[in-house]
Amino acid sequence: MSGPARATQHASSKSAVLDVIRAAGTISRVGLINATGFTGATISTVVRKLIDEGLVVETGRAESTGGKRRVLLQLNHSSRYAVGVHLDHAGITYVLTNLGGSVVARISRAGAGAAEPRTVVARMAAEVKGLIDGVGVDHKRVLGLGLVSPGPLSSDTGMGLTPPSMRKWEDFPLDQELERATSLPVVLDNDATAAALGEHWSGGIGGTAISAALYMGTGIGAGLVINGITYRGSSGNAGEIGHICVDANGPECWCGARGCVEVLAGPAAVVAAARADAALAGSAGLTGRARSVSSDFAAVSRAARRGEPSALAILERSARYIAVAARTLANIMDLEVLVLTGPSFAIAGSVYLPVVRDELDRAFFSRAAHGVDVRLSRSAATASAIGGAALVLQSELVPLHEGLRLPENLADSEPAALPASGE
Ligand SMILES: [Zn+2]
Repeated sequence: MSGPARATQHASSKSAVLDVIRAAGTISRVGLINATGFTGATISTVVRKLIDEGLVVETGRAESTGGKRRVLLQLNHSSRYAVGVHLDHAGITYVLTNLGGSVVARISRAGAGAAEPRTVVARMAAEVKGLIDGVGVDHKRVLGLGLVSPGPLSSDTGMGLTPPSMRKWEDFPLDQELERATSLPVVLDNDATAAALGEHWSGGIGGTAISAALYMGTGIGAGLVINGITYRGSSGNAGEIGHICVDANGPECWCGARGCVEVLAGPAAVVAAARADAALAGSAGLTGRARSVSSDFAAVSRAARRGEPSALAILERSARYIAVAARTLANIMDLEVLVLTGPSFAIAGSVYLPVVRDELDRAFFSRAAHGVDVRLSRSAATASAIGGAALVLQSELVPLHEGLRLPENLADSEPAALPASGE
């Protein structure tokens, strides 16, 4: 899936080369020349700098193809780390990832609840320190902290739009306060967008791929990554796939429209259908007072795994609607890769994956030209927090345009020498 890096505007030749090595896993210097279009001399200089800075290591040799066996390069995974934090009303998930985006430490703690933002930030700083110290990583190797929360976040207005449970956080300068408390650079984004970038970074997806993450927590959203850049729309609300209409005369959705995929097929709709079936409600333990949508959705999924046909039928009906929404997204974006991720796919992904795959194999508009690689995330439950860390890795190490922060030891790299023609 890794194409020529020249389609992406990296801020420097060094970041372009690092991104190709990340996507390839292992690659030779000749491979880098082919992938980037840079000259052999440029590749040689840039690779030497990356090795000197400890970001890249030489690792064995490729199989001989007759001539000299080529030395392979890969990321030096333990050279840098990033912290990802998923902040929610109900819980805070922290991950520490290495340079390749793999999780090396993970903790879950109590959510923001009703506490004052300042109190929560002080606690978060202590929990971040505990996370890093717990695995003995030198704080100097930690590049920054990516904070992810449901709904749009903006560095101008703090949390901006907030769910009702977190109204206290409106206008709270969360990034600045957290930066002060942790002494780490802080970047912010919403959960689906961060999850998409996390899959892009750690899933071996090439720098020029058009990929999306279909994210299902209690709602349904999507994050889009185009040529390595997250597409956010004019207000950070791109990818609201949950509010695609799949039945013009369907029930009213909380967003004000009718027949949205979320109101027909989201976790709340699955739980409501299961509760309406007295036998299933009894066997799945859904009777009595309402619990959270996520715990009830998990109960329906467990019933389906136990082989209860009515539970499986409800989930498969949901999956067919979601597959139509996924096909719509794939058609509009001409997607190459679609990753199912988020807590609800972590629980029920095995039901949804084949239905979505079948829909795209059968009906994706451009299927004669190329297929869509539909995957279930390997880390769907913590995808947002991992995505938070990927935000840091990308903004610090492979900034895609000028103006993003570069670490001091990379700031002197030469500007990207993009080929003048060929595109
Ligand atoms: Zn809606």
